Amino acid sequence: MASEKEAALAAVPTDSPTIFDKIINKEIPANIVYEDDKVLAFRDIAPQAPTHIVIIPKVKDGLTGLSKAEEKHCEILGYLLYTAKLVAKQEGLDDGFRLVINDGPKGCQSVYHLHIHLLGGRQMNWPPG
Ligand code: AMP
Repeated sequence: MASEKEAALAAVPTDSPTIFDKIINKEIPANIVYEDDKVLAFRDIAPQAPTHIVIIPKVKDGLTGLSKAEEKHCEILGYLLYTAKLVAKQEGLDDGFRLVINDGPKGCQSVYHLHIHLLGGRQMNWPPG
């Protein structure tokens, strides 16, 4: 299986539907931990921490990645962060957690549908390397 970095370098930045659309549309299974009309949060299939959840907007609206954000996206971007806080609380990450947004090939982004990684359950390091 390709490493995360290999997957990211192989990924082509695109506005086409991604695997996350299939998860939103329930065409493929996912371990969903939070859902409302605007966002979906599900466990990462290749967890990098005991708790690793991916939080996405249900409507991509051009947000293939954070670098494509426009002023019109401010509301959903804020809502995604607030959702991350709610899910962290739900997961019992009371002593801390990390949020990560990978952007583009050098940021190791592999799925071109904006998402926040919520990581917790172990001690994080800084700098991340
Ligand atoms: P990124 O590399 O930042 O684009 O993150 C994409 C994430 O999506 C990776 O951590 C993958 O493990 C995760 N992922 C890809 N496909 C699935 C899936 N079907 N279910 C859950 N997570 C997935």
